[in-house]
Amino acid sequence: MTSRRLFLRMAGSAAVAGAAGAALGCRAGATSRRRLAVAIDVRRCLELEGCRICIDACHSAHNVPTLPDRAHEVKWVWKEPFERAFAIEEPEAIAESLRGQPALVFCNHCDNPPCVRVCPTQATWKREDGIVAIDEHRCIGCRYCVAACPYGSRSFNWVDPRPHVAQPMSDYPTRARGVVEKCNLCEERLAAGRLPACVESCPAKAMLFGDLQDPASEIRRALKERYSIRRKPELGTRPQIYYFI
Ligand code: SF4
Repeated sequence: MTSRRLFLRMAGSAAVAGAAGAALGCRAGATSRRRLAVAIDVRRCLELEGCRICIDACHSAHNVPTLPDRAHEVKWVWKEPFERAFAIEEPEAIAESLRGQPALVFCNHCDNPPCVRVCPTQATWKREDGIVAIDEHRCIGCRYCVAACPYGSRSFNWVDPRPHVAQPMSDYPTRARGVVEKCNLCEERLAAGRLPACVESCPAKAMLFGDLQDPASEIRRALKERYSIRRKPELGTRPQIYYFI
């Protein structure tokens, strides 16, 4: 019951998202309709070899289980070999230098999310600020969304995850067997005026988070000035996680 109440509170977080203004760097003059996004500086991320501080921070904040069977793995943020995450062939020098390196990946909070279109119960939807959210209480476990996501960003709870959460956090609901979950862009932290856990915890300061609709936001300025790529843009999903390479 407690977890249901928490989820309902989070579902309403869009309404109180103004509280995250300080963390978002929102300013007077920014449009009211926000478009939240993340940009990752790949080279900076790679400076700390083997670092998984952001992954641990995210998984700990959201009670993500560590399951012994890889086939049942639940993940919100993870690393993939660069060439699997991106199809970069040109320029060859860049492709060569990144081949085999780990790329940090998570839900892209797509502007045109196929996962949302296929959900028969509207258990997943795109919020006005661009976050693609899930209400696990409406999820019937059909896994259409898992199949529809071309990035492997959704995990299905094949087993009860609760016994596999190392140190359960009481301020975030645990999930049950038979439902889908994924990165929520820390909607609960944003509602409290905090940054996403991955962004905040990164010791290399390799991640920018903010509102692309705000012309003065750091992320928008950085994206204007630097070359960035997104995952599988050719699919038309319009990912909102950007990578500076
Ligand atoms: Fe949906 Fe996958 Fe895009 Fe996330 S990355 S919004 S789960 S299609």
